[in-house]
Amino acid sequence: MMTSNGISGKTYKLSFEAYSGHTFPGTQPFETCCPVTPGCRTFGGIEILLEREDVTRFVMDLKVLLSLVRILDDNSLRKNVLMRELARVFAVVPMKPEEVGEKIWRPAIAEAVEIMKPLLNTHNSPTTPYAGLIGHSHIDTAWLWPLEETWRKCARTFSSILNLMEQYPEMTFLQPAPCHTEQVKNLYPSLFDRIKTKVEEGKWEPNGGMWVEPDCNITSGESLVRQLMMAQKYTQEWFGYTSDTLWLPDVFGYSAALPQILRGAGVEFFCTTKIAWNDTNRFPYDTFWWKGIDGTAVLAHFNYIHCWPRPQDLAHQWNRIQHKDVQDRFLVGYGFWRRWRRSNGRDAGSGAANWRPRRLRAHRAYDCEQFSSSNARRAL
Ligand SMILES: [Zn+2]
Repeated sequence: MMTSNGISGKTYKLSFEAYSGHTFPGTQPFETCCPVTPGCRTFGGIEILLEREDVTRFVMDLKVLLSLVRILDDNSLRKNVLMRELARVFAVVPMKPEEVGEKIWRPAIAEAVEIMKPLLNTHNSPTTPYAGLIGHSHIDTAWLWPLEETWRKCARTFSSILNLMEQYPEMTFLQPAPCHTEQVKNLYPSLFDRIKTKVEEGKWEPNGGMWVEPDCNITSGESLVRQLMMAQKYTQEWFGYTSDTLWLPDVFGYSAALPQILRGAGVEFFCTTKIAWNDTNRFPYDTFWWKGIDGTAVLAHFNYIHCWPRPQDLAHQWNRIQHKDVQDRFLVGYGFWRRWRRSNGRDAGSGAANWRPRRLRAHRAYDCEQFSSSNARRAL
């Protein structure tokens, strides 16, 4: 967001950074895109918008309720009440606003928001599962771009998140790799100061356990220990924070020595999304005690990233959980999927898009779970 108080006639200075991207087709097993000339991208322009808060709210509230309707059972009382009230909404709101003019449709959407308010404020029963929702942006430290671009990705991502936190004070964010924080501290010190404030407020969680998100197959035990030591020392020194979670969403394999090493560093939990990527068979557990070679155990949880915090997607994640008799919760790191997609499947950061927390704010009703802007600690 450029400003929350735009003044007509005032001059605003904008800075732009152009980047031609990085295209290496064929680096993903599912990638079928045609070859693109490296460095050759067409700049399509930018758009500057004046946001009308009431219109955005109406659209987000409506999308949440429509998403909810799609997943509820036909016999559900909630669904039937929703259908009835949404019929009222559609009766109130002009279907072709351009034909009636703003003086008509704007009060109409205000009326529609009032109709939707009690539907969104409805609370679920205490036996519904819990979805811990936290903003997250998975950034590959080293992949198919210059390392300097990684630091710029970090700066752009963190800056976006901090700005979103200004707009949505309830927002929380998980940032796992101190290596990224350290680079931002050196290159963008004012950003780092803002991060520090958000950590102090409990909204920015520097919880990942290791310095980068490292390979754990060929890495030696000593190296893994050093990853943990450096990371814990860093977050302690700069944030007074000790990680309790090893956050490795995108690492291909995990040493059986890890539980013992993690416990030695004060880490109790292990989160990954990678094992769920298997296209041949399904790992039989989603949350379980992972015992290492010496019998030491950590609580492992297959969380989700690149997710939308909308009822349909969360219901999908909940429905996939295999042992609902013992697992009553799951963790979702919601974040920008489209940027990831546009960069041909590379984990390129940029964070939770602005309408994600906005939609999160609208999520006050859902028969599957109690939504919460959570942190990983509480969710686990
Ligand atoms: Zn990755």
